[in-house]
Amino acid sequence: MTLSSRDFPTDQHGWSELLPARQACRSIKGTVRVPWVVVGAGLTGLACSRRLAELHPNNEILLLDARLVGQGASGRNSGFTVGVSHFPGVFKAHEKANFARVNRINQAGLSILDQQINTLAIDCHWDSSGFHHGAADIASVKEQKNFIDYLNAMEIEHSSLDQQAMQSRFGTTLYQAGVHVRPGGLVQPAALVRGLADGLPSNVKLVENCPVLKVQSGDSIKLQLAKGEVIADNLVMATNYEAPKLGFLRRRLIGSTLSGSFTRVLTEQELASLGSHKSWGIISLHGGGATLRLTQDGRICLRNTAEYSGAELLSSAALKSRQAIHRSSFEKRFPQLAHVPFEHAWSGVEGISGNGTNFFGQQGKNIYLAGGYNGSGVSRGTAFGQTLADYASGGQSELITDCLSSATATWLPPRPFLDIGAMFKISARFRGVGLDR
Ligand SMILES: Cc1cc2nc3c(=O)[nH]c(=O)nc-3n(C[C@H](O)[C@H](O)[C@H](O)COP(=O)(O)OP(=O)(O)OC[C@H]3O[C@@H](n4cnc5c(N)ncnc54)[C@H](O)[C@@H]3O)c2cc1C
Repeated sequence: MTLSSRDFPTDQHGWSELLPARQACRSIKGTVRVPWVVVGAGLTGLACSRRLAELHPNNEILLLDARLVGQGASGRNSGFTVGVSHFPGVFKAHEKANFARVNRINQAGLSILDQQINTLAIDCHWDSSGFHHGAADIASVKEQKNFIDYLNAMEIEHSSLDQQAMQSRFGTTLYQAGVHVRPGGLVQPAALVRGLADGLPSNVKLVENCPVLKVQSGDSIKLQLAKGEVIADNLVMATNYEAPKLGFLRRRLIGSTLSGSFTRVLTEQELASLGSHKSWGIISLHGGGATLRLTQDGRICLRNTAEYSGAELLSSAALKSRQAIHRSSFEKRFPQLAHVPFEHAWSGVEGISGNGTNFFGQQGKNIYLAGGYNGSGVSRGTAFGQTLADYASGGQSELITDCLSSATATWLPPRPFLDIGAMFKISARFRGVGLDR
């Protein structure tokens, strides 16, 4: 089956809308032959293309995206750049090596981003001083203890906070406890990916609004586009939850749709009611809890819904109705700001697997793929993307071994059971969320 451009919708809601409008400046007509083509210009595809360009300076690397850079999940996330993953539940000593492996990948991605943001002078509100994990409800307060046991066992820099410390930092009495973890960062995600795209090496050719409609593999790899075709020696798929549309990872990767809202920019007086920290991020210690930020430009940003909607963005009407859920969560945390309106709402789709694993490696002759980070892909996607370029170019490294060691994905049932199972799996994340939502 051949797709059409309509299979790649987008909308005007998101972090991109806080930035100046972006225009696509290139297109492809006729037949183009290249040694390397990367499909998907999110964090994975951008990191992979940059690295391929460094490894193959005499080759042109073609990078295609169905939409404008910033319209995919990489420009729609909450901007938490994870250095240390939270593995819920009682600390399992026998999993220590696996936890360390995942954190090596996270921290590789974090340091690649830190270095690129600084070298390219990307204005994306980058803060590399870590972020907070919060506990509003009894289940999360228990989880805080588990998390601290894990951080101690892994010798990870952190500080534990009680309710008073949380209140004096953030101006809310909701959180009973919290933890600040140092390795980590916060970013304006759309500004980050735009900056990375605009700073690509000169031998990367980025073409936006250019969906790949069909992939034919064999002795040569042929990609069908709306007005042309690409014949490539090597293909990298960095299309996240949309990989199954082109026949990859079918029944192993699905999309979960999340949504959140931003307030308008707060006044000096409103900001003063929010405690001592000037910008911050709090991830809930409950998997279904809200993620909350005070951005560097003075907005509160809150995301607290997740649902299965066939891996599609929410319609404007659905987004409006989700705003009631964002609103009650916001007012519960900040009654002193109940008069402050939301200015934007947005949704985005994250790629999730049945058992929470990620995908990295070869999918066929000269075809490589990385993706599906289960809501934690800012640093990990960057590391996977860069490392996939090394792997596809015949390299060997500890990071390649780490990425290849991701667990095998469980199979998901065919439709319509898939839709029912996905709905249950995603709604299960809110079980016991209580005040954390
Ligand atoms: C609301 C939300 C909040 C999140 N919060 C966080 C967070 O705080 N921290 C964190 O670490 N992670 C978070 N995530 C997850 C994170 O955003 C993703 O894991 C990460 O962005 C994945 O990057 P990617 O490059 O693999 O995929 P994407 O950013 O989705 O990029 C894939 C690109 O491929 C393109 N594409 C797809 N199919 C085709 C095709 N056929 N032809 C051409 N192009 C194609 C798409 O247009 C897209 O731009 C969040 C996700 C969402 C949705």
